[in-house]
This record gives sequence, C-alpha cells and structure tokens, in this order.
Amino acid sequence: MPDHDSSMVRLRGVRVHNLRGVDVDFPRDALVAVTGVSGSGKSSLAFGTVYAEAQARYLESVAPYARRLIDQAGTPDAREITGLPPAVAFQQARGVAQARSTVGTVTVLSNSLRLLFSRAGTYPDGAERLDSDAFSPNTPAGACPRCHGLGRIHEVSEASLVPDPGLSIREKAIAAWPGAWQGKNYRDILAVLGYDVDRPWRELPQAEREWILFTDEQPVVTVHPERTAERIQRPYQGTYQSARRYVLHTLATTQSTTLRNRALQYVEVLPCPACDGSGLRPEALAVTFAGATIADLAALPLTVLAEKLRAEQDDSVARVVVEDLLARIEALVELGLGYLAMDRATPTLSAGELQRLRLAATLRSTLFGVVYVLDEPSAGLHPDDTQALLRVLDRIRAAGNSLLVVEHEPEIIRHSDWLVDVGPGAGEHGGLVLYSGPLDGLRTSADSVTRAHLFDPPAPVGKHRTPAGKVELRGVSRHNLVETDVDFPLGVFTAVTGVSGSGKTTLVTGILAAAVRDHLGAARSHAGDDEEPVADTSRHVRSITGLDAINRLVEVDQRPIGRTPRSNLATYTGLFDGVRKLFAATDEARRRKYSAGRFSFNVDGGRCETCQGEGAVAVELLFLPSSYSPCPACHGARYNPETLEIRYRDKSIADVLALTVDDARDFFADVPAVARSLETLHDVGLSYLTLGQPATELSGGEAQRIKLATELQRTRRGHTLFVLDEPTTGLHPADVEVLMRLLHTLVDAGNTVVVIEHDMTVAAGADHVIDLGPGGGDEGGSVVAVGAPAEVARAGASRTAPYLREVLE
Ligand code: ADP
Ligand code: ADP
Ligand code: ZN
Ligand code: ZN
Repeated sequence: MPDHDSSMVRLRGVRVHNLRGVDVDFPRDALVAVTGVSGSGKSSLAFGTVYAEAQARYLESVAPYARRLIDQAGTPDAREITGLPPAVAFQQARGVAQARSTVGTVTVLSNSLRLLFSRAGTYPDGAERLDSDAFSPNTPAGACPRCHGLGRIHEVSEASLVPDPGLSIREKAIAAWPGAWQGKNYRDILAVLGYDVDRPWRELPQAEREWILFTDEQPVVTVHPERTAERIQRPYQGTYQSARRYVLHTLATTQSTTLRNRALQYVEVLPCPACDGSGLRPEALAVTFAGATIADLAALPLTVLAEKLRAEQDDSVARVVVEDLLARIEALVELGLGYLAMDRATPTLSAGELQRLRLAATLRSTLFGVVYVLDEPSAGLHPDDTQALLRVLDRIRAAGNSLLVVEHEPEIIRHSDWLVDVGPGAGEHGGLVLYSGPLDGLRTSADSVTRAHLFDPPAPVGKHRTPAGKVELRGVSRHNLVETDVDFPLGVFTAVTGVSGSGKTTLVTGILAAAVRDHLGAARSHAGDDEEPVADTSRHVRSITGLDAINRLVEVDQRPIGRTPRSNLATYTGLFDGVRKLFAATDEARRRKYSAGRFSFNVDGGRCETCQGEGAVAVELLFLPSSYSPCPACHGARYNPETLEIRYRDKSIADVLALTVDDARDFFADVPAVARSLETLHDVGLSYLTLGQPATELSGGEAQRIKLATELQRTRRGHTLFVLDEPTTGLHPADVEVLMRLLHTLVDAGNTVVVIEHDMTVAAGADHVIDLGPGGGDEGGSVVAVGAPAEVARAGASRTAPYLREVLE
C-alpha cells in the first residue's frame, strides 16, 4: 500500500547538479510550470531528474541487461522518487539535426502523402502502380539515380576548374588538380599525348580544353619523366583522368576532410537536372494527385496544401488518407506553423519551431498516462500564437497526460495548474525549491524573483533616442516579402515584431544583415560557427542606401558554438589562452619545460590519452543514441597526472575548468586579460556556467549569450550593427532586464541594435518598432506598423498592438 497520494509525483532529497537535496511534490494529469532565473536548476529538475529517472526505469523494464550501462551513465541522485509516469521529453534542439530530415519526415506527413500517391495517384497510361516507398528520395526504390535522392549535384565547369586561364598547364592552370607528384604526372601524360603544356590555357583550342577537363576516357601511356637536377626517374605507365573525374571521384570516395574540402572549392552545387531538385525517380514524378506531383505538393505552405486536399476529400479511394493528412496538418497550423512547407529542411528551422513540430506530431498518436517534459515551448511564438499553444497543451492534459514545462512566458505560467519555482539565484546560489503549489500561493513567497515579475511587472522605460541616419531598403522581395519598403534607423534600438512566419528572419537576417555583410566584404565579423556563403542580396533588393554609416556587423544567433565536447565556454571566448599561459609561467612548469600547449586538452602532450582529453567516453546503448560516461582513467579531469601536478594558486588546470564564471572572476580578479572576458560573461547572465562546460550541453540561448559576450569584450565605441534573433529565449524576466541594459549600453555608445523579439517588454523599451504581418507565410511579408512603441501600440491592423498596449499601460 502506498502511503501517499497516488495523484502526486513525489521527489525527495534530489541532488542533481546544483539542486540541494530538494523535496518537491507536483500533481499528475496537470500542467506544471517550472520557473526561475537561468541556471537556478529548472532543467536539472525537469530533465536531469524527472525525465532521466523515467527514462532509466523504462530502460530497465525493457532491457534488464541495460542496468549496468544505466549505472555508468548515472541515474539521478535522489533519495526517493514515487508516482512517476513514463516520460516523453522535448528539449530545444541541441547538436546536429539529421541531414535529410524535413518538416515532412519529422511530422510523418511524408508517409501519408506517399501512401496517397501510391493508392490514389493518377498514373500515366500503362504505368504500373508504385509502392509508397517509390515516392521517397530516401529509399533505393525512390531515389533519383543521378543524385541518389539528394536533389543536389556537385558539378564542375571550366571556370570552377581553371580559375586563371592566363596560366599554362605547367603553371598550374588546372587548379583543381592534386598537388605534388600526382599533378606533375597528369601534366606529363598530357605532354606525351601531344598537348601543349606551356601555352596559356585560354589559347588552347576549345576541343582540347574540353577533353582535358571533362573526358571520361582514362588512357594509359608510357611517361618518361622530365629530368630534374636532383634525381633521375625511370619510365612508368601513367593513367590519365580528367579534372572533372578527379574532383568528383575525390568527393565521392575520400575519407579525408582536407581532400574533401579542397575538392569542394572546385565544384558548384546545383539542383539536380534529372529530378529538378526533388530527389525522386522519373517514374514517381510522373504520378500526380489533384494535378500536381508529390514534389509540387511538398513545396506548398501547409495551409495551401490543406486547401488543395480538402477539395479532393470526396474521392472515395483517397478519403481515409486525406482525412488523416488534414488532421495532422491542422495540428501544425494550430501551433502557428501553417506557413511551413513539407520539403523545408529541418536545419533551417529555429529550435522553437522544431520543438513545436515534434509536439504537433505526437498529438495524433494515442499516448496517455505519460509526462511530457518541455523546454520553453513558447520560444519563437508571438503572444497571439501562445493562445493556440495553450489549447494544445490543454488537449494533451485532457487526454490523461501530465505536462512539466520549463517556462518564462507569463501567459503560460498563469495558465498552469501548478507552479514549481526554483531559485533564488543561479548555480550554487540557486538549487532550492522556493515554492510548489497553485499559482496564487506564490504571492506570499518572499524570496522568489518570479513573484515580482508575475504579479507586478516593472514598467518598461523607453529612452526615445533620435536616430543618426538610416538604412533604406526599397523593393525587398524574398520568401514572402514582395516589393516591401523598410527603413532601419541607425544609432537606436529597433525591435522587429510579428507572428511566426511573418518574415522577420527573412528581413533581418536574410536581407539587412546579408546586405551589410556584402557591403563590408572581407571586413565582416560573423559570430556564428559556420560561415555562410555570401548571399547575393542585390537579387532580392531593388535599392539600398545608408550602408556606409556601418563599419562592422555582429550577428548573434542561437546556433551551437560547437558540436563536440572539445569546444567549451573557455575555449570559445578565448579566455582559456590566457589561463594556459598562466599555468605555463609557474615555476614548476618552467622547470619541467611545459609550454602553454601542454595545458590544452585538444592536442596530445598534456591530455589524458584514454579519452583523448574529452573527459568522457561514449557508452553505446542498443537502439538508443550513445551517451557519455566519465573517463575511467582521468575521471573527467581530461589531463594526465603529470599535467595536473602543476598548480596555479593551488588549483590544477582541471580545477580551473570546474570553476563557475563567478568563482573564476574572484580567482582571476588581478589578471586583466582573463578577468575582462569573465566580466562580460557575468554581464550577460552566465555567471553560473562552469568554464569547462562542454558546448554540447549548452542551450541555444546560452550559446547566443556566449557569442554576445565574446563580441562585447571586443567592441568599443563605434558604428557596429548588432543583429540578434530572439535574445530573450531561455531567459527569466529578471535576466532579460540585465541583457537589455547591456544592449542599451551598446546603443548609448553609438552602435545600432536590431532584435527580432516576441517579448513585449523588450519591444516596449525599444526606440523603434517594425511590425511585420499581418499573418504568417503568404498572409505576411508586409510592414503593418512602424514607429515608436506607443505609436505601434495604437495601430489598428497590427496583431502585436494589443499586447504592446498591455505592457505600456
Ligand atoms: P536552468 O534550467 O534553471 O537554467 P540548469 O538546471 O540548466 O538551470 O543548471 C543549474 C546548475 O547546474 C547550473 O549551475 C549549471 O551550470 C549546472 N549544470 C547544468 N547541467 C550540468 C551538467 N550536465 N553537469 C554539471 N552541471 C550542470
Ligand atoms: P519569421 O521569422 O517571422 O517567423 P520567416 O522569415 O522565417 O518568418 O519566414 C517568412 C516566410 O518565408 C515563411 O513563409 C517561411 O516559410 C518562408 N521561408 C523562410 N525561410 C525559408 C527558406 N530557407 N526557404 C524557403 N522558405 C523560407
Ligand atoms: Zn536527382
Ligand atoms: Zn580521460
């Protein structure tokens, strides 16, 4: 007999991460919000404890042999956990998305659409009915033979292979050829075959140039190598291959990243001409439904696709499948994602969009009696869309499930049945449960930072700055923006608002930032981890003026700062360089001749060789993504014992990596080079992170703030344009205040800040608001309202106006 209420989940003595042996009860079959400042321990409670425990129990029940592995990976440290249902978790995407994953595959809409084409498609006369696999580019049955289903091909051209046609072959006109011996070999073969290797490339006859670059023949000839001063070589049999063959073969077969990257310099990526980019076989593309191919339908915004399908609903063969498709699409539209098309690649979606896609996908499956653990489901949602999200959450609960959501959005917190407030501060200053109960009871919780923000939010203070010029964009046409005119004032803080899919990202990142980047050319600074190809903005904009007033661009996005545990806070910001120098300068290190490199865990010498400096080794669990457990040799320290013997003020290099930003601030207070970075990290609200926190464990919001801090330590007065995409994601209102103060300081120093934002307190505190809409996708793309926050709040057609008014009044 259980001695407690079976409708409650009971946690006792939880000590996960910074949680200090907390006890907490929350009801099952309810919407429970977990609140608190960043780093207070919300995720440690929701994901690290509740979800991890449910996962471990589940594993144990399906595979008893997994016990040992679970022990290694670690079950949450708690004295007692009872009443816990099985759990499903949706965390903001951390790490890599699947290369071929699309909106259609994530939501399984693709399966239904294929079934529809297989069963109810219109086939050409005499064609055999195809299996539904034949409509997938990811199966051998469906993949286009030319591009293997990728929809893109690598192709070479004379211009890509021979960048400087003024050179002769001997002078390395064919830049794509391999270096060293192999390149000389090809040159010598061509000489044997009678080609002139000393004439400038452009003077060779067209037919010869074509053969040299593109032939599929592989002639074998006897080469008498040219005598060189150093040595005499014997004649040998040499095989020729054209530059095209060499480059494409290298791309298809090489294991070496260096060779691959080199080869990529000489190719162009083009839509596959055989399948027109769809990745499908011709037989599949010959089948239509409602007059369209499956590729045509997958390219439509979901709302438009739904209309088309509705018109066909009476067709008896198709009915069941069409109804199923419509119901699935309905769930996506409800969550504000109707502007997406099925063929949209998931890596181009924001973390919030991806989480909502997954959420919508589960609505159609018949789960009940489980606990959904969600990470800020409101991320990326306009307040107007939040209502729809609440309806969906209510529906999941009504079906007999529990919901545990980590949230900052007041609307969602107020709607919850129960609130667990964690705090009061971050890291070791947090880790307590300050309150657990129905919302109203929080009013009496003295320590809670959340209380003040929920019940009497501070009024935003606008600075009403006067712009120092402007960037004028005229005739912007891209995605859903059609001939749109917009001005971005300079030297002020601008918030771009609008419902999901209205065109904010397209305008700010795709047009404004890209135009500035083009304009600045090589002088640009991009804080993201992978460089994007320079967009040809001139194709999308009729005219731009005012760019000359900007001399630097800083884009701070939420993409991960690194994809391996090798990258961390200390390495990314550069502060680790300073730390390593301090260790190398100690007497003992000098005596042993240890250089700064010895203190890096990314090269051999000082690192632990068992885990190669990762501090962890991968544990493979059958059918599950691999997880990490601490390295048996160094127990997570990452270094070998000799390196750890070196101490700087009594701490080893591993001890330093284990310090939080705030502790490190004290420790390095008198080392300016290191202290400056730590100060900015503290300023952006990351004082609770440890220096060695692997990049893979950081949320999108944390990654964004690390990038911001990295930029801030460089920026002085100036004419820099800062572009930020929803910087408040993952931030408690108290943290938002800190971040905004920081951004406003940048503007006070003469810079320009443009943020995409849904948080109305941020918009209300801006100098200038650009509201896009009125709706998403084809119903958006226009400037609905523009001006000071108070002016936009009065605009009739704006869906943002009512929410802005609420905050301003
Ligand atoms: P929140 O979700 O409230 O932002 P977290 O639960 O993520 O806070 O973090 C609480 C504390 O636990 C922080 O000090 C953080 O650095 C620490 N922490 C988070 N994840 C880990 C981890 N995987 N290993 C060790 N410490 C962690
Ligand atoms: P917001 O940032 O306001 O949510 P977006 O700028 O992301 O809106 O999207 C505006 C429109 O452009 C939407 O209809 C969206 O589907 C489309 N869109 C955005 N990015 C792409 C892309 N990479 N390829 C095709 N369409 C896109
Ligand atoms: Zn193809
Ligand atoms: Zn190790």
